[in-house]
Amino acid sequence: MLWRNWARNQQSAPISVGRPASEEELVDLVKRAAASGLRVKAVGSGHSFTGVALTDGRLIALDRYGRIVSSDPSEGTVTVQAGITLHQLNAELYDRGLALENLGDIAYQTIAGAISTGTHGTGKSLGGLATQVTGLRLIAGDGSVIDCSPENEPEVFHTARVGLGALGIISTVTLRCPRAFNLHAIEAPMPVDTVLGSLDELVDGNDHFEFFWFPHTDWALTKRNNRTNRPLSPRSRWREFLDDILVSNVAFGALCRLGRLRPSLIPPLLARLAPPGGVEYVDRSYEVFVSPRLVRFYEMEYGIPREAAREAFNDVRRYIERSGLVITFPVEVRFAAGDDIPLSMAYGRDTCYIAVHVYQGTHYHQYFEAVEQIMNGYGGRPHWGKLHFQTAETLAPRYPEWDRFQAVRARLDPAGLFSNPYLERVLGPVAGG
Ligand SMILES: Cc1cc2nc3c(=O)[nH]c(=O)nc-3n(C[C@H](O)[C@H](O)[C@H](O)COP(=O)(O)OP(=O)(O)OC[C@H]3O[C@@H](n4cnc5c(N)ncnc54)[C@H](O)[C@@H]3O)c2cc1C
Repeated sequence: MLWRNWARNQQSAPISVGRPASEEELVDLVKRAAASGLRVKAVGSGHSFTGVALTDGRLIALDRYGRIVSSDPSEGTVTVQAGITLHQLNAELYDRGLALENLGDIAYQTIAGAISTGTHGTGKSLGGLATQVTGLRLIAGDGSVIDCSPENEPEVFHTARVGLGALGIISTVTLRCPRAFNLHAIEAPMPVDTVLGSLDELVDGNDHFEFFWFPHTDWALTKRNNRTNRPLSPRSRWREFLDDILVSNVAFGALCRLGRLRPSLIPPLLARLAPPGGVEYVDRSYEVFVSPRLVRFYEMEYGIPREAAREAFNDVRRYIERSGLVITFPVEVRFAAGDDIPLSMAYGRDTCYIAVHVYQGTHYHQYFEAVEQIMNGYGGRPHWGKLHFQTAETLAPRYPEWDRFQAVRARLDPAGLFSNPYLERVLGPVAGG
């Protein structure tokens, strides 16, 4: 069997595929892999661009293990099986009067896959999805099940929320959830210099602020989303189709294909295009946060200290302008609150995330390496699920609790059962293993 990720830039040939439907079956798969001396890896929806989910050993697919186990709307908590997709979870939480407090751009990921790489959205006072986790059940390398929370096995809990799949197989996840809420969304183009000139007001003045700068142009698409008690006034079905499918995917896809065939046509074309008109609506939180992504691409994203946002963004902008590269995809800029999770990209500092993308099948090395060089200058931490060229040696100094994570890894997976070449590159071998 050949396993491939969403972007089709990573593939592996696992020896076997297990599809457990219960925790007992999950434990059994881990024990059998350990006994046979083969490595084992759970995969989510394959939406990581890196080789983080690859295995040539035993693959565990969790598509039969994705239900809500329990929920307590009065406490605001939900416990789910690891393979539930965010898409399914959002709808089921809404029916229970609950929500995820923040989301990224899409909801195709599984909950375990999303938290394992530090998946995040935007919002100055909100952390990534893993900061909502209040408990995990994790299967360690010896097949034992560890029920961890801030009170029980706190060291495992502390590290395993962003675990890169290196500490064990997550069986269930307990999340703290706010009551379901609506968002007032304003999406509008702005001159990019205006955005940069009032960046702090935009970030601090909105629950969720982000912008997409279109290279070779002077404008950016801004998104301002704020919680509201106003009644729903969603976009019409036609408007949604126009914005999310026709413009963002079909027309954009055509532009990307043209860019691959005749790159020189893109900058003058983009420069002449009028920015899209704005749109304002009120919808359920998750309907506002996420959009369909039908055009496939490769991505790199770095977390840097928030105060470096403007300077680092301008470095990227100047680089693109000087390099002569033709870039059809926007540069995306988001914000998040600092957290205490050892391998979270936002550990210990309020963070600005800067992401660069290219169309699937396009050479990305020159662009991404140059952006990585810029981010290195700001102590940047790469998203674990997005492309980068770092190694354990270059990453360790950027994470103050690196050794704490490695100690838990050595305890839970001394034989490196959950490792793979990507993890060996970015985390190194298991200590003492
Ligand atoms: C179109 C697109 C948009 C994206 N948008 C965003 C965004 O807005 N914000 C953001 O931060 N990221 C974003 N990402 C990145 C994505 O959220 C992460 O790469 C995420 O990890 C993918 O989740 P997945 O379920 O596909 O997991 P996979 O990619 O399949 O796996 C990721 C990791 O999780 C591990 N894993 C999966 N299940 C388990 C388990 N049960 N136990 C232990 N480990 C497990 C895997 O082994 C692997 O290490 C985007 C990616 C794409 C392709």
